[in-house]
Amino acid sequence: MKRIMAAGLVVAGLLGAAAVAGNRTAGPHGGRVIEAGGATYEFYLDAQHRAHVFLLDRSLAPVAMGRQQATLRVAPNEGTRKIPLARTSAPAKKGGKAVIHWASTESLPEPEGYQVTLSVRGQGKPVNVRFVLIEQACRGCKLPEYACICDH
Ligand SMILES: [Zn+2]
Repeated sequence: MKRIMAAGLVVAGLLGAAAVAGNRTAGPHGGRVIEAGGATYEFYLDAQHRAHVFLLDRSLAPVAMGRQQATLRVAPNEGTRKIPLARTSAPAKKGGKAVIHWASTESLPEPEGYQVTLSVRGQGKPVNVRFVLIEQACRGCKLPEYACICDH
């Protein structure tokens, strides 16, 4: 009986990992799901072009950010610069969950189409995640291109 339960837990663990492998699942705000340093995050750009970084649990629900650190760099034509992030619990969108997360204190430069580097640090070394910020809706999955889950 004990052995059967253990096998069940292993399967559940594998399924949990598969659900967020690659960029196949949208985040709770419709943002990009990012696996970094053993944790899962969501990057989401709100209507005012401010970036939000949420810590997600295994079911991809936002949970309060703990001691994790995050920095954000953008590389528009004017050159790479750091975007200040501050901890906030203000919801990122109407009806969104009020949970402690990181949000940029200024709007991201427009037009988008530049590379974004998100550096997150939980336990251990900081991990850099790079992607191109394109907000236009993907024709396949209807999500913003930066959060596309269909490889369109
Ligand atoms: Zn897509």
